[in-house]
Amino acid sequence: MSVHPDPLDLVTAAWDRIAEWERQWGEAEAHDALAVDADRLAEAMDEYLGRMTAPPRGETPGMYPFGHARYAGQMLKPPHPVALAAYAAAARINPNNHALDGGPPTSAFEKEVMVDLGAMLGMPADALGHLTGGGTVANLEALWIARQETGGRPIAVSAEGHYTHARMAGVLGVDCHTVAADDNGRIDLNALEETLKRGEVGTVVLTATTTGLGAVDPLADAIPLCRAHGVRVHVDAAYGGFFRLLATSDAPPGTDRQPLAAEVARHLAAIADADSVVVDPHKHGLQPYGCGAVLFRDPAVGRHYKHDSPYTYFTSAALHLGEISLECSRPGAAAGALWMTLQVLPLAADRGIGPVLAAGLRAARDVHGALDASARLAPVLAPETDIVVYAPRAESVAELDTRSAAVFQVGMDDPDDPVFVSLYRLPADRLRRRFPDLAPDADAARVLRSVLMKPEHEAWAGRLVARLDALAGGG
Ligand SMILES: *Cc1c(COP(=O)(O)O)cnc(C)c1O
Repeated sequence: MSVHPDPLDLVTAAWDRIAEWERQWGEAEAHDALAVDADRLAEAMDEYLGRMTAPPRGETPGMYPFGHARYAGQMLKPPHPVALAAYAAAARINPNNHALDGGPPTSAFEKEVMVDLGAMLGMPADALGHLTGGGTVANLEALWIARQETGGRPIAVSAEGHYTHARMAGVLGVDCHTVAADDNGRIDLNALEETLKRGEVGTVVLTATTTGLGAVDPLADAIPLCRAHGVRVHVDAAYGGFFRLLATSDAPPGTDRQPLAAEVARHLAAIADADSVVVDPHKHGLQPYGCGAVLFRDPAVGRHYKHDSPYTYFTSAALHLGEISLECSRPGAAAGALWMTLQVLPLAADRGIGPVLAAGLRAARDVHGALDASARLAPVLAPETDIVVYAPRAESVAELDTRSAAVFQVGMDDPDDPVFVSLYRLPADRLRRRFPDLAPDADAARVLRSVLMKPEHEAWAGRLVARLDALAGGG
């Protein structure tokens, strides 16, 4: 029997069990220093919740409804109730996965979820990996190892890659070359080859689902090209890594059960050939923020982490994931929450996480179809995953920009039937290749973008486009 568990029931039951465990250590009297003023508490809590629940308009904007299907903007959604309850249970004790002794069970959970994530990404069974605070620090770690392995040679990343790669290259003191992207937002293979031919680059970063346009770099073709030039490959699959579940499923590509195009599936499958890969469970893994992951194909890279800190306290010779991590303290609760989630929503194509992803992909396909049929809106490109980019129909680049901004703002401000989308800036020449009749009166324009990462978006696809269509008509 399938159920939608009540988060409060789950948290209460979990905390009762932890409280029972706590009692075995003897009654613990709370110290007066930790007592709080009851009136101040009530007042501050009221302000806290008041600010969180204020309308998302005005001087001190409140929260946007990330959990509701009418929020179809950025990559944001609440964690699964199971993840929340498991997190709350562990956070009450607050284990620290920097060392096995900081949380023996949560360290074990971390090793187990890394095996599951590694299998999802096609990494070998002995791949080395751990959880991180998020995708950025996971990428930093992968680029740091890349720098150590390549003697500090430059990295190359597509113009549509995440903006933090150039920043992290700066942190690491290595040069970062930008490779042109094509009109679909994928790395341009000819431009990549030109860059590789110059012989300077030591590491190429490929992106499996770009943050902006939701495009999948042609990994299956780019990785052999990199290999031919003896270059290391890091795949930033922070957003799209989970889609590899569908890419390797038995269901035929392009069907409702596996709604990825065959080409996209081929490139996602090739994540398996990377030297290192990053994936964010706090994006498509239904986790609260603070849960990224990095994996290395060659476990021997562990040698780069050697340190001799007098602070660490080891009671065993087993692998401490804290010993192979850039970060020291890491939340054991994050590992626990992910482990617990994957017990009931496993990393599989036909159950657990797979159907959650597939619903978002079908939502994107349906939204794209409805936009194509709209008189006032048009898709900018066909979605490769669950991110849709579209624009109001307009006569000129400047008008398109103004109209996008109006739909974005008016949709968000409408108190009765709001809809939340996001904006993305595209150069005018790129837009004019898609809409050849656009008059070139500006260099760039904002277009509209929706990340359809909640399965609930599937039922809302038609309603979402109808609402956006009305907004584009000034209604
Ligand atoms: C989200 C994202 C990142 C950054 O990850 P954080 O978890 O936000 O630090 C990096 N690369 C890609 C492709 C992303 O989508």
